[in-house]
Amino acid sequence: MAEFSENLNIIHDRIVAAASASSRAPADITLIAVSKTKPAEAVEAAIAAGHRVFGENRVQEGVQKFTSLRGRYEDLELHLIGPLQTNKVAEAVAFFDVIQTVDRPKLAAALAKEGAKQGRLPKLYIQVNVGSEPQKAGILPQEACAFYKECCETYGLKIDGLMCLPPHGQDPAPYFALLKDLADELAVPCISMGMSGDFECAIEKGATQIRVGTALFGTR
Ligand SMILES: *Cc1c(COP(=O)(O)O)cnc(C)c1O
Repeated sequence: MAEFSENLNIIHDRIVAAASASSRAPADITLIAVSKTKPAEAVEAAIAAGHRVFGENRVQEGVQKFTSLRGRYEDLELHLIGPLQTNKVAEAVAFFDVIQTVDRPKLAAALAKEGAKQGRLPKLYIQVNVGSEPQKAGILPQEACAFYKECCETYGLKIDGLMCLPPHGQDPAPYFALLKDLADELAVPCISMGMSGDFECAIEKGATQIRVGTALFGTR
């Protein structure tokens, strides 16, 4: 527990420093603590340290870990940051507050249908494959605007943000800048980018949400 709260203080100070270096308000940047592979006890320690916003990359793992925590802490906010298969859409819609990985028409259609059925929808972000990497999830940058329109006009979805994972081992700055440009073009408020190794750069480029795992919880 002590370790998480120490790490949280360090990350918080780094967020404040990165924000002020870009003349941004630290309050405009939300820290998502990525708890994937970590046990519920680790999340409890984070909650005890005052943290409330978490990210999981698998539906099943998130539901299992957070169901009982949700019952005890009403103000938790849970983000799905991993790929979503259409057969898990019902569960994801019922459980998560934000789904950051909308990346194909079939998924958009399934979300719209499930939202109508359940009478609720999480906030939705589009995942953009900023490096146009063949193995990576996300809509290609040049298709992002058309897909955004399709989500809104064909499926009636409200899209609140964009999310990306830049290519591994390269300078992320131009990829973060690309996501920021797309978000500005589409006028969506949330920009989810930056992880343990590069969140300061992401903040400089305009991130409103950073997703930090190992720097908070330790190595996986
Ligand atoms: C695991 C993960 C993170 C956190 O990565 P760290 O390097 O541990 O900070 C962020 N975003 C996504 C989509 C992830 O899967």
